[in-house]
Amino acid sequence: MTLSIPFDNSYARLPDRFYARLEPKPVAAPRLVRLNTVLAEQLGIDPEQLASPEGTAMLAGNAAPPGAEPIAQAYAGHQFGHFVPQLGDGRACLLGEVIGRDGIRRDIQLKGSGTTPFSRAGDGRAALGPVLREYLISEAMAALGVPTTRTLAAVTTGETVWRETSLPGAVLTRVATSHIRVGTFQYFAARGDAEAVRLLADHAITRHYPDAAGADNPYRAFLDAVMAAQAELIARWLLIGFIHGVMNTDNCAISGETIDYGPCAFMDEYDPATVFSSIDHGGRYAYGNQPRIAQWNLARLAETLLALLGTDEDSAMAAAQESLAAFAPRFETAYRTGLRRKIGLATEREGDDALTADFLALLAAGRVDFTLAFRGLSEAAAAQALFADGDAFDAWTRRWRLRLEAEPGGPGAASTLMRQVNPAFVPRNHLVEAALAAATKQSDFAPFETLLGVLSRPYQNDPAMAAFARGPGDDERVLQTFCGT
Ligand code: AMP
Ligand code: MG
Repeated sequence: MTLSIPFDNSYARLPDRFYARLEPKPVAAPRLVRLNTVLAEQLGIDPEQLASPEGTAMLAGNAAPPGAEPIAQAYAGHQFGHFVPQLGDGRACLLGEVIGRDGIRRDIQLKGSGTTPFSRAGDGRAALGPVLREYLISEAMAALGVPTTRTLAAVTTGETVWRETSLPGAVLTRVATSHIRVGTFQYFAARGDAEAVRLLADHAITRHYPDAAGADNPYRAFLDAVMAAQAELIARWLLIGFIHGVMNTDNCAISGETIDYGPCAFMDEYDPATVFSSIDHGGRYAYGNQPRIAQWNLARLAETLLALLGTDEDSAMAAAQESLAAFAPRFETAYRTGLRRKIGLATEREGDDALTADFLALLAAGRVDFTLAFRGLSEAAAAQALFADGDAFDAWTRRWRLRLEAEPGGPGAASTLMRQVNPAFVPRNHLVEAALAAATKQSDFAPFETLLGVLSRPYQNDPAMAAFARGPGDDERVLQTFCGT
């Protein structure tokens, strides 16, 4: 069976200084451990071909298929607030782009495919645990309706990688509408390469925000569009309890997709100060800080575009500031609307914000599980049991029920809405860790497969899967997550 993938590589047509051409480095014994057949079909790639030895060889980086033009992309980035002028794909390789059945252009990238000119001291490889983690969480995010990079496949390499201890190696195939980051713009801006910044902006406009091309100032419209996409994205994160964990500017995608599943985690008990990442000592990327950090990252993007935003310095600064100022209201509207929907309100009335804020305050005060509390509201009895302070919950519930009466569809419609927006199943840390441990320590992929299945239908009531809906027991609690790079 010959592998045929209809590559059309627009990024590789940009000037040489945007990337390094390279070949992925072969691995000893590739074995396909998971293929996302639904995604393959969406991309217009035959899943059977991908599962063949030839396909597996491609997914492992052992053979580049016809039409691929493997490159490592150059980028920079602010990491925990400190600027690093050169990062780049140190262990990833963009094979090329395909236009899917839906007409959307997407990157096909191998992650863990060996060293590149950007590897610095790294080995260019990935361990199986973090690869499966990215698979689970990225696909869960997609099923939850959150814009995200996707995972097409996971392959084990038959080699080990050294991360304080010896671990099985793996390669992940990541699919994204592009891998252009805020840090990609910063890479060229930091070098004073104005021409490259403009070419990159034009490329990103064509690819992600074609409407901006027709605006009076396309670059201003582009900045506004990225701002809006990020504001909507962060609101969605907050509404499902997602903590990215490492919101550096190199992990902030221009497309508005969630990218880079490192130490990310879902919050169990509601607390805006929640941090899981072992390297986030100051809590910079805590759950509740995410909107502020996204805006900070976007200010870094605006800086790189200044020369394109106005005819002189003053008008450019004014345009950048105006654009940035739109972030907070856009985020607030998306977040507040989302919160209202989480308590079953499709319309808006005075007092609604207080109602949602008071509910969150109850959760915080009682350290109540975020996911269970909202899901439980569609059956108030289920929610009541979660609150130690039953009186406070009952008082809130009385106000809430009164408000539901004013909804056009009444409590019935509210229940339906709540079940559509409040997931029963999210990739809780303890579930993810257990699935990863079985796969990496016992080569038992059954728990990973089961969890992946549950997470693909997060809003569906499935009593048989109740064990996957509950929060961690005291002995299951995961307090820290790791990058695992
Ligand atoms: P991340 O923490 O995954 O966002 O990666 C930050 C930077 O470190 C990027 O430039 C990566 O390509 C690079 N990097 C991470 N892990 C490795 C590795 N094992 N080998 C080489 N480069 C790496
Ligand atoms: Mg990264």
